[in-house]
Amino acid sequence: MRTVSLAALGLLLAIQPVLAQAPRRLGVHVHGVTAVDIGLEGSTLQVTLDAPAINMLGFEHPPHNDTESKQIEAVLASLHVPAPWLEPATAARCVLADSRIQASGLSASAPSVGHADIDARYSFRCAEPGRLDHIDIHLADRYPATHGLAVDIVLPQKQERQELGQGEFRVMLAP
Ligand SMILES: [Zn+2]
Repeated sequence: MRTVSLAALGLLLAIQPVLAQAPRRLGVHVHGVTAVDIGLEGSTLQVTLDAPAINMLGFEHPPHNDTESKQIEAVLASLHVPAPWLEPATAARCVLADSRIQASGLSASAPSVGHADIDARYSFRCAEPGRLDHIDIHLADRYPATHGLAVDIVLPQKQERQELGQGEFRVMLAP
């Protein structure tokens, strides 16, 4: 038994640094479900969205016309300002430091691949990271085709997955 638990401990120690970087899930694409990764390291909070484009746009193909082009542009531009729907606990005093938005399968110059994704990556600096006990994500209010969130959390004190369904928006981070 002792050998087994030591081996398990060794494995844990080996895995730990990798998990701390909040690994992205690969190949997850379920219409209506947006994958969210939340990671906190020191005073840096990272929130990453991986959304099937249909959740935000209502379609998943390169633009067929001017209206669709403008719609894609508008959605990608508005994602740079997450304040209306992404709210870390006020007490943690987090300020947005960086946002990166990426789309795949929506370029007019590339052939349609049948599906499309929109990724958003946000970095916050938090003055009181120890008080970050929740994050509210009102993504469904803004993009009603979002029916659920699959949230992976990597914190210094815990790692877990939370599934948020219709009407749910609070991700609990406190132990
Ligand atoms: Zn799709």
